Amino acid sequence: MTQATPLLQIKDLKQHFLVSNKLFQDKKYVYAVDGVSFDLYPGQTIGLVGESGCGKSTVGRTLLKLYEPTAGRIFFEGRDITNLKAKEMISLRKEMQIILQDPLESLNQRHTVGDIIKEPFQIHGIGTPKERDQWVSELLVKVGLRPDAASRFPHEFSGGQRQRIGIARAIALKPKLIVCDESVSALDVSVQAQIVNLLLDLQKEMNIALIFIAHDLSVVRHVSDVIAVMYLGKFVEIGKAEDVYNTPKHPYTEALISAIPQPDPWAKKDRIILNGDIPSPMNPPKGCAFSTRCRLAEKGCFEHSPTLSCDEHKVACHLVQLLPGNNNE
Ligand code: SF4
Repeated sequence: MTQATPLLQIKDLKQHFLVSNKLFQDKKYVYAVDGVSFDLYPGQTIGLVGESGCGKSTVGRTLLKLYEPTAGRIFFEGRDITNLKAKEMISLRKEMQIILQDPLESLNQRHTVGDIIKEPFQIHGIGTPKERDQWVSELLVKVGLRPDAASRFPHEFSGGQRQRIGIARAIALKPKLIVCDESVSALDVSVQAQIVNLLLDLQKEMNIALIFIAHDLSVVRHVSDVIAVMYLGKFVEIGKAEDVYNTPKHPYTEALISAIPQPDPWAKKDRIILNGDIPSPMNPPKGCAFSTRCRLAEKGCFEHSPTLSCDEHKVACHLVQLLPGNNNE
Protein backbone atom coordinates (compact mmCIF):
# COMPACT_ATOMS: atom_id res chain seq x y z
CA MET A 1 0.00 0.00 0.00
CA THR A 2 1.34 3.40 -0.97
CA GLN A 3 2.60 5.50 1.92
CA ALA A 4 3.64 9.13 2.10
CA THR A 5 7.42 8.72 2.19
CA PRO A 6 9.12 6.72 -0.54
CA LEU A 7 11.56 4.07 0.60
CA LEU A 8 13.59 4.63 -2.54
CA GLN A 9 13.79 7.64 -4.83
CA ILE A 10 15.70 7.45 -8.08
CA LYS A 11 16.27 10.74 -9.84
CA ASP A 12 17.61 10.95 -13.39
CA LEU A 13 19.92 7.96 -12.86
CA LYS A 14 22.56 7.39 -15.51
CA GLN A 15 25.04 4.60 -15.97
CA HIS A 16 27.43 5.06 -18.86
CA PHE A 17 30.16 2.46 -19.13
CA LEU A 18 33.45 3.47 -20.73
CA VAL A 19 34.50 0.89 -23.30
CA SER A 20 38.24 0.44 -23.05
CA ASN A 21 39.05 -1.16 -26.34
CA LYS A 22 42.32 -0.29 -28.02
CA LEU A 23 40.56 -0.46 -31.39
CA PHE A 24 38.70 2.73 -30.52
CA GLN A 25 40.73 5.89 -30.91
CA ASP A 26 38.07 7.98 -29.16
CA LYS A 27 36.41 7.30 -25.87
CA LYS A 28 33.27 5.23 -26.39
CA TYR A 29 30.47 4.83 -23.90
CA VAL A 30 27.71 2.29 -23.51
CA TYR A 31 24.66 4.31 -22.45
CA ALA A 32 23.25 1.43 -20.40
CA VAL A 33 20.97 3.63 -18.27
CA ASP A 34 20.27 7.12 -19.49
CA GLY A 35 18.10 9.17 -17.16
CA VAL A 36 15.70 7.00 -15.18
CA SER A 37 13.50 8.30 -12.34
CA PHE A 38 10.97 6.61 -10.05
CA ASP A 39 9.78 6.37 -6.46
CA LEU A 40 9.22 3.09 -4.63
CA TYR A 41 7.22 2.85 -1.41
CA PRO A 42 7.53 0.29 1.43
CA GLY A 43 5.82 -2.96 0.49
CA GLN A 44 5.35 -1.83 -3.12
CA THR A 45 6.59 -3.59 -6.28
CA ILE A 46 7.84 -1.94 -9.42
CA GLY A 47 8.33 -4.19 -12.42
CA LEU A 48 11.04 -3.30 -14.93
CA VAL A 49 10.48 -4.88 -18.33
CA GLY A 50 12.11 -4.74 -21.72
CA GLU A 51 14.19 -6.85 -24.05
CA SER A 52 17.61 -8.12 -23.14
CA GLY A 53 20.10 -5.23 -23.27
CA CYS A 54 17.57 -2.49 -22.46
CA GLY A 55 19.35 -1.61 -19.20
CA LYS A 56 16.89 -2.97 -16.63
CA SER A 57 19.43 -5.10 -14.74
CA THR A 58 21.88 -2.20 -14.75
CA VAL A 59 19.23 -0.01 -13.08
CA GLY A 60 18.88 -2.63 -10.33
CA ARG A 61 22.60 -2.98 -9.77
CA THR A 62 23.30 0.74 -9.92
CA LEU A 63 20.64 1.68 -7.38
CA LEU A 64 22.14 -0.95 -5.04
CA LYS A 65 25.46 0.78 -5.66
CA LEU A 66 27.04 -2.38 -7.01
CA TYR A 67 28.05 0.05 -9.79
CA GLU A 68 28.90 3.68 -9.11
CA PRO A 69 26.33 5.79 -10.97
CA THR A 70 27.57 8.13 -13.69
CA ALA A 71 24.96 10.76 -12.77
CA GLY A 72 21.68 11.19 -10.94
CA ARG A 73 20.72 10.68 -7.31
CA ILE A 74 19.66 7.70 -5.19
CA PHE A 75 17.74 8.35 -1.97
CA PHE A 76 17.05 5.54 0.49
CA GLU A 77 14.62 6.42 3.30
CA GLY A 78 15.17 10.06 2.41
CA ARG A 79 18.97 9.82 2.72
CA ASP A 80 21.10 10.61 -0.32
CA ILE A 81 23.29 7.52 -0.73
CA THR A 82 24.58 8.36 -4.22
CA ASN A 83 28.12 9.12 -3.16
CA LEU A 84 28.48 6.77 -0.18
CA LYS A 85 31.72 4.83 -0.26
CA ALA A 86 31.77 1.01 -0.13
CA LYS A 87 32.61 1.09 3.59
CA GLU A 88 29.71 3.43 4.34
CA MET A 89 27.38 1.15 2.38
CA ILE A 90 28.11 -1.90 4.57
CA SER A 91 25.42 -1.15 7.16
CA LEU A 92 22.94 -0.29 4.39
CA ARG A 93 23.54 -3.63 2.68
CA LYS A 94 21.38 -5.20 5.41
CA GLU A 95 18.43 -3.24 4.08
CA MET A 96 18.99 -3.83 0.35
CA GLN A 97 19.38 -7.28 -1.16
CA ILE A 98 19.43 -8.87 -4.60
CA ILE A 99 18.22 -12.24 -5.90
CA LEU A 100 19.84 -13.24 -9.18
CA GLN A 101 18.58 -15.36 -12.06
CA ASP A 102 20.95 -18.26 -11.59
CA PRO A 103 21.40 -19.26 -7.94
CA LEU A 104 24.25 -21.56 -8.98
CA GLU A 105 26.21 -18.44 -9.90
CA SER A 106 25.37 -16.53 -6.75
CA LEU A 107 25.64 -19.37 -4.21
CA ASN A 108 29.09 -20.61 -3.31
CA GLN A 109 29.07 -24.25 -4.48
CA ARG A 110 31.72 -25.32 -1.97
CA HIS A 111 29.72 -24.10 1.03
CA THR A 112 26.82 -25.91 2.62
CA VAL A 113 23.40 -24.29 2.40
CA GLY A 114 23.62 -23.55 6.12
CA ASP A 115 26.92 -21.70 5.70
CA ILE A 116 25.52 -19.75 2.73
CA ILE A 117 22.45 -18.55 4.63
CA LYS A 118 24.50 -17.88 7.76
CA GLU A 119 27.03 -15.68 5.98
CA PRO A 120 25.07 -12.37 6.20
CA PHE A 121 24.85 -12.80 9.99
CA GLN A 122 28.61 -13.42 10.15
CA ILE A 123 29.45 -10.43 7.93
CA HIS A 124 27.41 -8.10 10.11
CA GLY A 125 28.44 -9.77 13.40
CA ILE A 126 24.87 -10.68 14.35
CA GLY A 127 24.09 -13.51 16.81
CA THR A 128 26.03 -16.36 18.37
CA PRO A 129 26.85 -19.54 16.39
CA LYS A 130 23.94 -21.30 18.12
CA GLU A 131 21.51 -18.50 17.30
CA ARG A 132 22.67 -18.44 13.68
CA ASP A 133 22.03 -22.19 13.33
CA GLN A 134 18.56 -21.68 14.75
CA TRP A 135 17.85 -18.78 12.36
CA VAL A 136 19.05 -20.84 9.39
CA SER A 137 16.55 -23.59 10.30
CA GLU A 138 13.74 -21.04 10.63
CA LEU A 139 14.62 -19.38 7.32
CA LEU A 140 14.69 -22.72 5.49
CA VAL A 141 11.22 -23.55 6.80
CA LYS A 142 10.01 -20.06 5.86
CA VAL A 143 11.00 -20.60 2.22
CA GLY A 144 9.48 -24.10 2.08
CA LEU A 145 12.58 -26.28 2.64
CA ARG A 146 13.38 -28.74 5.42
CA PRO A 147 15.82 -27.67 8.15
CA ASP A 148 18.13 -30.60 7.27
CA ALA A 149 18.82 -28.88 3.91
CA ALA A 150 21.37 -26.84 5.88
CA SER A 151 23.95 -29.64 5.76
CA ARG A 152 23.69 -30.20 2.00
CA PHE A 153 25.30 -28.41 -0.97
CA PRO A 154 23.56 -26.23 -3.60
CA HIS A 155 24.16 -28.67 -6.47
CA GLU A 156 22.06 -31.27 -4.66
CA PHE A 157 18.93 -29.15 -5.19
CA SER A 158 16.66 -28.39 -8.16
CA GLY A 159 16.58 -24.91 -9.75
CA GLY A 160 13.45 -23.92 -7.82
CA GLN A 161 14.89 -25.16 -4.53
CA ARG A 162 18.13 -23.29 -5.17
CA GLN A 163 16.12 -20.15 -5.76
CA ARG A 164 14.42 -20.75 -2.39
CA ILE A 165 17.90 -20.93 -0.81
CA GLY A 166 18.77 -17.62 -2.49
CA ILE A 167 15.58 -16.09 -1.11
CA ALA A 168 16.33 -17.40 2.40
CA ARG A 169 19.71 -15.71 2.26
CA ALA A 170 18.22 -12.50 0.86
CA ILE A 171 15.62 -12.19 3.63
CA ALA A 172 17.96 -13.28 6.46
CA LEU A 173 18.65 -9.73 7.63
CA LYS A 174 15.05 -8.56 7.15
CA PRO A 175 15.74 -6.18 4.25
CA LYS A 176 13.39 -3.38 3.26
CA LEU A 177 14.22 -3.67 -0.44
CA ILE A 178 14.97 -6.66 -2.68
CA VAL A 179 15.97 -6.44 -6.33
CA CYS A 180 14.77 -9.61 -8.07
CA ASP A 181 16.94 -9.66 -11.19
CA GLU A 182 15.30 -12.16 -13.59
CA SER A 183 14.88 -14.31 -10.47
CA VAL A 184 12.26 -16.61 -11.97
CA SER A 185 13.14 -16.31 -15.67
CA ALA A 186 15.13 -19.57 -15.86
CA LEU A 187 12.49 -21.68 -14.08
CA ASP A 188 9.68 -23.84 -15.50
CA VAL A 189 6.30 -22.13 -15.52
CA SER A 190 4.87 -24.15 -12.60
CA VAL A 191 8.01 -23.61 -10.47
CA GLN A 192 8.01 -19.95 -11.49
CA ALA A 193 4.50 -19.56 -10.06
CA GLN A 194 5.57 -21.17 -6.76
CA ILE A 195 8.58 -18.88 -6.39
CA VAL A 196 6.56 -15.78 -7.33
CA ASN A 197 3.91 -16.71 -4.75
CA LEU A 198 6.61 -17.27 -2.12
CA LEU A 199 8.07 -13.84 -2.85
CA LEU A 200 4.63 -12.22 -2.63
CA ASP A 201 3.87 -13.96 0.69
CA LEU A 202 7.21 -12.84 2.16
CA GLN A 203 6.70 -9.33 0.83
CA LYS A 204 3.33 -9.11 2.56
CA GLU A 205 4.63 -10.56 5.81
CA MET A 206 7.79 -8.44 5.95
CA ASN A 207 6.58 -5.33 4.09
CA ILE A 208 9.45 -5.60 1.60
CA ALA A 209 9.61 -3.35 -1.45
CA LEU A 210 10.48 -5.30 -4.61
CA ILE A 211 12.10 -4.27 -7.85
CA PHE A 212 11.06 -7.10 -10.14
CA ILE A 213 13.18 -7.26 -13.29
CA ALA A 214 11.99 -9.57 -16.06
CA HIS A 215 11.37 -9.75 -19.77
CA ASP A 216 8.05 -11.59 -19.32
CA LEU A 217 5.38 -8.92 -19.03
CA SER A 218 2.68 -11.35 -17.91
CA VAL A 219 4.71 -12.32 -14.80
CA VAL A 220 5.60 -8.69 -14.13
CA ARG A 221 1.95 -7.69 -14.34
CA HIS A 222 1.03 -10.36 -11.79
CA VAL A 223 3.48 -9.11 -9.15
CA SER A 224 3.74 -5.36 -9.78
CA ASP A 225 1.92 -2.29 -8.54
CA VAL A 226 3.77 -0.17 -11.08
CA ILE A 227 5.33 -1.21 -14.39
CA ALA A 228 8.14 0.65 -16.11
CA VAL A 229 8.94 -0.35 -19.69
CA MET A 230 12.56 0.23 -20.71
CA TYR A 231 14.10 0.69 -24.10
CA LEU A 232 17.76 1.55 -24.68
CA GLY A 233 18.40 2.78 -21.16
CA LYS A 234 15.26 4.92 -20.77
CA PHE A 235 11.73 4.47 -19.50
CA VAL A 236 9.37 4.75 -22.46
CA GLU A 237 6.28 4.11 -20.35
CA ILE A 238 5.55 3.93 -16.64
CA GLY A 239 2.28 3.73 -14.75
CA LYS A 240 0.02 1.56 -12.62
CA ALA A 241 0.46 -2.08 -13.66
CA GLU A 242 -3.15 -2.53 -14.80
CA ASP A 243 -3.09 0.71 -16.82
CA VAL A 244 0.15 -0.17 -18.61
CA TYR A 245 -1.01 -3.72 -19.29
CA ASN A 246 -4.61 -3.00 -20.27
CA THR A 247 -4.16 0.31 -22.09
CA PRO A 248 -0.54 0.49 -23.25
CA LYS A 249 0.31 3.86 -24.76
CA HIS A 250 3.75 3.29 -26.24
CA PRO A 251 4.10 1.28 -29.47
CA TYR A 252 6.89 -0.73 -27.88
CA THR A 253 4.74 -1.74 -24.87
CA GLU A 254 1.92 -2.55 -27.25
CA ALA A 255 4.23 -4.89 -29.19
CA LEU A 256 5.51 -6.58 -25.99
CA ILE A 257 1.95 -7.21 -24.81
CA SER A 258 0.86 -8.52 -28.20
CA ALA A 259 3.60 -11.16 -27.94
CA ILE A 260 2.24 -12.65 -24.69
CA PRO A 261 0.73 -16.09 -25.42
CA GLN A 262 -3.04 -16.30 -24.82
CA PRO A 263 -4.44 -19.03 -22.56
CA ASP A 264 -7.23 -19.53 -25.13
CA PRO A 265 -5.59 -20.82 -28.34
CA TRP A 266 -8.68 -19.75 -30.38
CA ALA A 267 -8.72 -16.18 -29.08
CA LYS A 268 -8.05 -13.74 -31.88
CA LYS A 269 -5.00 -11.62 -31.29
CA ASP A 270 -2.97 -9.56 -33.71
CA ARG A 271 0.67 -9.90 -32.87
CA ILE A 272 2.80 -6.86 -33.60
CA ILE A 273 6.13 -8.06 -34.92
CA LEU A 274 9.10 -5.91 -34.01
CA ASN A 275 11.56 -5.79 -36.87
CA GLY A 276 15.27 -6.03 -36.18
CA ASP A 277 17.11 -6.06 -32.90
CA ILE A 278 17.40 -3.45 -30.22
CA PRO A 279 20.09 -0.97 -31.43
CA SER A 280 23.45 -0.83 -29.71
CA PRO A 281 23.39 1.28 -26.51
CA MET A 282 26.83 2.49 -27.65
CA ASN A 283 25.31 4.13 -30.68
CA PRO A 284 21.64 4.89 -30.02
CA PRO A 285 19.58 6.24 -32.94
CA LYS A 286 19.12 9.99 -33.28
CA GLY A 287 15.65 11.20 -32.29
CA CYS A 288 13.36 8.59 -30.74
CA ALA A 289 15.43 5.55 -29.75
CA PHE A 290 12.59 3.28 -30.89
CA SER A 291 12.26 4.93 -34.33
CA THR A 292 14.23 2.22 -36.16
CA ARG A 293 11.61 -0.40 -35.21
CA CYS A 294 8.43 1.61 -34.73
CA ARG A 295 5.52 0.97 -37.09
CA LEU A 296 4.21 4.50 -36.46
CA ALA A 297 7.48 6.39 -36.95
CA GLU A 298 7.30 9.49 -39.08
CA LYS A 299 9.82 12.15 -40.07
CA GLY A 300 9.91 14.05 -36.76
CA CYS A 301 10.56 10.82 -34.82
CA PHE A 302 13.99 10.50 -36.45
CA GLU A 303 14.97 14.02 -35.39
CA HIS A 304 13.49 14.70 -31.96
CA SER A 305 13.76 12.53 -28.89
CA PRO A 306 10.44 12.37 -26.98
CA THR A 307 10.41 12.94 -23.23
CA LEU A 308 8.17 11.23 -20.69
CA SER A 309 4.80 12.93 -20.21
CA CYS A 310 3.97 14.36 -16.79
CA ASP A 311 0.69 12.57 -16.08
CA GLU A 312 0.23 9.51 -13.86
CA HIS A 313 0.49 7.06 -16.77
CA LYS A 314 3.64 8.43 -18.39
CA VAL A 315 4.74 7.76 -21.95
CA ALA A 316 7.52 9.02 -24.20
CA CYS A 317 6.09 9.15 -27.73
CA HIS A 318 5.38 12.06 -30.06
CA LEU A 319 2.45 10.31 -31.66
CA VAL A 320 0.93 8.66 -28.62
CA GLN A 321 -2.52 9.99 -29.45
CA LEU A 322 -2.67 7.82 -32.56
CA LEU A 323 -2.82 4.63 -30.55
CA PRO A 324 -6.29 3.23 -29.87
CA GLY A 325 -7.44 3.78 -26.30
CA ASN A 326 -5.15 6.71 -25.64
CA ASN A 327 -6.75 9.86 -24.34
CA ASN A 328 -3.46 11.67 -24.04
CA GLU A 329 -4.50 13.37 -20.81
FE1 SF4 B 1 7.29 5.58 -32.59
FE2 SF4 B 1 7.67 8.16 -33.10
FE3 SF4 B 1 6.46 7.41 -30.86
FE4 SF4 B 1 9.07 6.97 -31.19
S1 SF4 B 1 8.05 8.95 -31.06
S2 SF4 B 1 7.59 5.56 -30.36
S3 SF4 B 1 9.17 6.49 -33.35
S4 SF4 B 1 5.72 7.10 -32.94
